[in-house]
Amino acid sequence: VAVSSGDVKPRILIMGLRRSGKSSIQKVVFHKMSPNETLFLESTAKISKDDVSNNSFINFQIWDIPGQIDLFEPTYDLGMILSGTGALIFVVDAQDDYMEALTCLHRIVSKAYSVNPHIRFEIFIHKVDGLSDDHKIETQRDISQRANEELHESGLNDLHLSFYLTSIYDHSIFEAFSKVVQKLIPQLSTLENLLSIFVQNSGVEKTFLFDITSKIYVATDGSPVDMQSYELCCEMIDVMMDMTCIYGDESESTSEQDSTCIIRLNNSSILYLREITRFLVLVCILRDEAFTKRGIINYNILCLQNAIHSVFDVRRTAKLNGQLPIEG
Ligand code: GDP
Repeated sequence: VAVSSGDVKPRILIMGLRRSGKSSIQKVVFHKMSPNETLFLESTAKISKDDVSNNSFINFQIWDIPGQIDLFEPTYDLGMILSGTGALIFVVDAQDDYMEALTCLHRIVSKAYSVNPHIRFEIFIHKVDGLSDDHKIETQRDISQRANEELHESGLNDLHLSFYLTSIYDHSIFEAFSKVVQKLIPQLSTLENLLSIFVQNSGVEKTFLFDITSKIYVATDGSPVDMQSYELCCEMIDVMMDMTCIYGDESESTSEQDSTCIIRLNNSSILYLREITRFLVLVCILRDEAFTKRGIINYNILCLQNAIHSVFDVRRTAKLNGQLPIEG
């Protein structure tokens, strides 16, 4: 899916000290590596560009910039890198002494802001799987207070930092990445409205629009997100992808037949997945009773699909049966 052709690729930059977990995050979110395998990752010693746009709706690059590289050396054209950056993720290892990380964060953030004041600063307080719930909250409070105080002292009052507690051992990293990516989608509020209208008219309890390769949710309806529902949907996508890899018909995947997957849970809820574009799937959570009106739901999904295609300006060819397959 091309987000209208004139758009410049929004770029996400991941930074942080050595061993803070940058490569692990990238591998787990975008390359399906299991968290345990990251124990054997070689530490990155150069800037790595990971262009995920070939197989994902999300059209951005990840630049892993290892801690020991001094970005303020003239060899790195920081101005060029930062001017094209939409979001800068700074990873702080919460299991380590984070004072050095905070000094580095301050240096990078103030420099980046002076080059490009439109960058969003997203701070991942990472590896929190080792901390108790109280300790997590306390760490977040301490880090955000120290980081903001330093900015305040340097007179950078307009600069806003967002904080997330993350770990690759649960879904928090996907949740945080979803929020970061959503802020970079100019059409987000339109998508959210479309999903809310869809939910209201279809008897569906919750719905997510997923990027299928990364399991990042690009948008959801207006009702609050609970972690458990999100995790269920992620697991459904995993199951579907595994089944498709093992038993899927190669020729089917390129055909115009939209993928569908239904899982009935033992609490009389249903997970219903439908393909929306080549990279996006809609996952709905609904009650058994509501699913008896599947005709209405399917009709509404078709309307939603058409609306989403036009939001993203996907080139369309009207077909006789009224479906609008995507080209390219
Ligand atoms: P980088 O140098 O910033 O790219 O760091 P790496 O990705 O190489 O990670 C350094 C170490 O941290 C590895 O041994 C990872 O397994 C570990 N790690 C990364 N993320 C997490 C996490 O969320 N929790 C825990 N406990 N360890 C993590």
